[in-house]
Amino acid sequence: MNKIKKYYIIIPIITAILSLIVLAMTSFNTTIVNKNYSLFTEDLNSNNISTVIIDTSPKMTILLNNGDKYSTDNPHTDTLKEKLLLNGIEVKDETTPPLAKTIPSVILGLSLLTIVAMFAYKAKAGGSSVASMDMQDFSKNKKAALDFHAVAGNEEAKESLMDIVDFLKNPEKYQKYGARMPKGVILYGEPGTGKTLLAKAVAGEAGVPFYALSGSDFVQVYVGVGAARVRNLFKKAKSHGKAVIFIDEIDAIGKARGNGKNGSSNDEKDQTLNALLTEMSGFGQDEGIVVIAATNRLDMLDTALLRPGRFDRHIEVSLPDVNAREKILSLHLKNKPHENLDIKDIAKKTVFFSGAKLESLINESAILAAKDNSNSITSAHIEYAYSITLAGHEKKERSYLKEEDKLLTSYHEAGHGLIGMLLLPQDKVSKITIIPTTKGAGGYTLTIPEDTSYHRIDYLKNKIKVSLGGRAAEEIIFGKDKISTGAHGDISQTTDIALKMITEYGMGETLGLIKLSSVGSLYSSYGNPVIEECKDLVNKLYEETLELLRENRDSLDKIALSLLEKETLYEDELKKIAYNK
Ligand code: ADP
Ligand code: ZN
Repeated sequence: MNKIKKYYIIIPIITAILSLIVLAMTSFNTTIVNKNYSLFTEDLNSNNISTVIIDTSPKMTILLNNGDKYSTDNPHTDTLKEKLLLNGIEVKDETTPPLAKTIPSVILGLSLLTIVAMFAYKAKAGGSSVASMDMQDFSKNKKAALDFHAVAGNEEAKESLMDIVDFLKNPEKYQKYGARMPKGVILYGEPGTGKTLLAKAVAGEAGVPFYALSGSDFVQVYVGVGAARVRNLFKKAKSHGKAVIFIDEIDAIGKARGNGKNGSSNDEKDQTLNALLTEMSGFGQDEGIVVIAATNRLDMLDTALLRPGRFDRHIEVSLPDVNAREKILSLHLKNKPHENLDIKDIAKKTVFFSGAKLESLINESAILAAKDNSNSITSAHIEYAYSITLAGHEKKERSYLKEEDKLLTSYHEAGHGLIGMLLLPQDKVSKITIIPTTKGAGGYTLTIPEDTSYHRIDYLKNKIKVSLGGRAAEEIIFGKDKISTGAHGDISQTTDIALKMITEYGMGETLGLIKLSSVGSLYSSYGNPVIEECKDLVNKLYEETLELLRENRDSLDKIALSLLEKETLYEDELKKIAYNK
């Protein structure tokens, strides 16, 4: 776009030159010898003159019968013309300049004006083009012509981001309804899961420029530089109207305050963070600017960043499940020659691989195939690249999980899911997965709790049972001596609810309707009996949970095994498995 504009300036330059040439030629014609007026009267008297050309200039042009030509002073007497005519001399009155002269002059004038205007425009725009060039040292890739087709899997994240795309395309539409669209979006999830890719795709889909900065760019710079960079970035983005501003590794500047030990870098972070917050409150809802930030650790961020009007939309970008892995692998294989690859099988073997790792697996395979001078990538190349990729990444990344552990996680999550569906159908189980989150759980079951202002006692008891469902399933399938630490989080949730029931909600025997924390110094003496009662309650509920799972063993197996295969199950699939006999 800019390049074409650069070439446009040649057009007025050419027309200017051409009109100058034409003008020069016509004036050459008229550069003729000048003679004294007395010589002219001599010629006049001896009838040598054929034509006299009179124009606005102080000179007039004389053509002689023999073809000679000269100019002389125009006396500007009223009688001159009459006298000439009476002498049989032709008089050409050219007081208006000939078209041959006016047209090139007009064109020359217009061309010069255009050139000046174009230079003025370039100087104005050039200011920003220079600045965005120096911005490019730390803005990653400005030519973000990507769209959502470049991102495989991540369907939920893409769906949330479609709103943002629509907003960027038609901010007026939302403004008309008085809707407040998010200024900031945080994408969170493991490294390499496609957060940057998604942000670029948002810009690409909406057809707006993409500006990027990384939080780590600020870590080592002098105080004040980071803040200036932030202001500069926003200024550039605003000068383009609509834009996507991407801030990678936002935790580098947005870590909860008071976490750091080293004072100077903290100052810098604070200044940068403040500049960011100020800039974000500085643009209006309808401007069509969206800031997308990425982090691996949502829980580490300063709450100031997460407040409404700032980064108030949080979208998880999770590790791909087997289905998504298959799509990512296919996407990256698309433009590479390959034969007889069982992509489904590769997807199965690459549990816990991020999109970036899958991409690198395919790339390694392509390099191996090239080294072999092979016609295409074969499964042997993939096998070899797989072992390189695994060796290249630290073990702690849990790149490959033993089948046995996967099975345990599958049963654990199936236990939660099944009990949830049986006992709390109002809390929708929307998703079960054995793919871990950044929070470190082995897998998780996502429920959307019913929205009520209070809970009945049976709800709380069922909630405890759902929480215990994971451990109960482990015990039933693998035996009491094979239970795992996977229930760690569940146990603390269970304890929490049971304790509150007895000590705060007046649902127990030991305290009756008394609230434990209100009894002051007597508090400690109630400790043991309360714990005893709590334990009894949870144990009883655990037995009931075991019982319920045993009764529904068939569904438990089905859910667990299909989790093992698919890694993620959604509400519809779960219902199908659990309720059709
Ligand atoms: P993040 O920002 O989450 O660390 P990136 O977006 O930088 O991850 O991903 C790095 C690379 O990994 C991408 O350029 C792409 O090649 C590949 N990749 C990651 N996720 C996906 C995905 N969902 N679909 C296709 N490619 C992906
Ligand atoms: Zn659990």
